[in-house]
Amino acid sequence: MNLYNIKYPEEQVNFAQAVRQGLGKDQGLFFPEKLPYFANVEELLALPLVERSQRILSAIIGDEIPAEKLAQMVANAFTFPAPVAKVEENIYALELFHGPTLAFKDFGGRFMAQALAAVRKDGKITILTATSGDTGAAVAHAFYGLENIDVVILYPKGKISVLQEKLFCTLGGNIRTIAIEGDFDACQALVKQAFDDQELREAIGLNSANSINISRLLAQICYYFEAVAQLPAEKRENLVVSVPSGNFGNLTAGLIAKAIGLPIKRFIASTNANDTVPRYLRSHQWDPYPTVATLSNAMDVSRPNNWPRVEELFRRQQWSLNELHSDSVTDAETEETLQAMYAKGYVCEPHGAIAYRVLKNDLSEGETGVFLCTAHPAKFKESVERILDIEVPLPEALAKHNALPLLSTTMPADFAVLRNYLLSAVK
Ligand SMILES: *Cc1c(COP(=O)(O)O)cnc(C)c1O
Repeated sequence: MNLYNIKYPEEQVNFAQAVRQGLGKDQGLFFPEKLPYFANVEELLALPLVERSQRILSAIIGDEIPAEKLAQMVANAFTFPAPVAKVEENIYALELFHGPTLAFKDFGGRFMAQALAAVRKDGKITILTATSGDTGAAVAHAFYGLENIDVVILYPKGKISVLQEKLFCTLGGNIRTIAIEGDFDACQALVKQAFDDQELREAIGLNSANSINISRLLAQICYYFEAVAQLPAEKRENLVVSVPSGNFGNLTAGLIAKAIGLPIKRFIASTNANDTVPRYLRSHQWDPYPTVATLSNAMDVSRPNNWPRVEELFRRQQWSLNELHSDSVTDAETEETLQAMYAKGYVCEPHGAIAYRVLKNDLSEGETGVFLCTAHPAKFKESVERILDIEVPLPEALAKHNALPLLSTTMPADFAVLRNYLLSAVK
């Protein structure tokens, strides 16, 4: 598989390099030079999730990773289902929250961990990352137990929910968690200092495993096929898919699924009040406003870092951006929508509710809609319980971690202290 840097197309890498490096020169994103096309999609759709995903990823990645090896990686990563639930006539939810950290990021995170383990060079790898809550959990669970890869996660002490902390600070083993006496920005600044320190970088093999890694996107293509596979055959035409979007990685993966042959008529990019993209599609002016906090906080992004990939794909496929529908939803509308969905018997959470609302407003006669549910309602327990006036029980995965002791180390926001720790603890 060949990929090029969208900013500097002359910079070309293979899959292994793209996975190890994450970003190209000048923070440019890597994009596949060629995409396969599946002329016989029906045959693919008839396969079970893991087997189908192996075929799709193997066609995209090519012989750089032997088929057997890739099959094992997919089987290790996709250990949970992505069921489709009918919410009302012609509208279905694709539930992507049945993984270990109850969010769709488990798909990409787990496959990235497998990919990195497969393409690593000799020597130690230390994944260092800062989290304001959810990413840390997905990274920790994805890398947990992998040999010769250490994970160090920094988070702001006392500033994430107890539940979030329990989810990734109770694992132990190769996962180290550090509660920093400071805010999220302080954590990010420490990570940046560590990456700027070449001696440290080499000593412990620093790697970022960030969300821009191509391996994540590739994994996410697979569940769009799974959604269509689960729909009744007569509903597979005139399909419209609504994606709750923050950094637009999830949408990019869906668009690639369409480009390689999945029959989807149109995508909808649904956002909260951080509406840079819907405004851009209306006015053709890229004009990010300061980020505002909303109920759907995983989508509080005003400069979506995957957007260049979306534009690149539209250009390459000769699709018009007019075909991409998009709208934003306020917090008040999100609450109203959660209640309306509950009245139909479906308990959702703010991110999924946004995708549902924009879909419902956009859908025409004769079309079938699918919206992505990116997190389990229990992950946003406090808002969901307040808005719906119900109790949301913890799923087993969360309840189990909730009972375990925290294993975090506390540290001041001081790079010298972190540096010493990394050099002595991670060997
Ligand atoms: C990360 C996240 C999103 C946004 O996904 P992008 O790929 O960044 O657009 C939506 N919902 C939830 C629950 C998330 O964690």
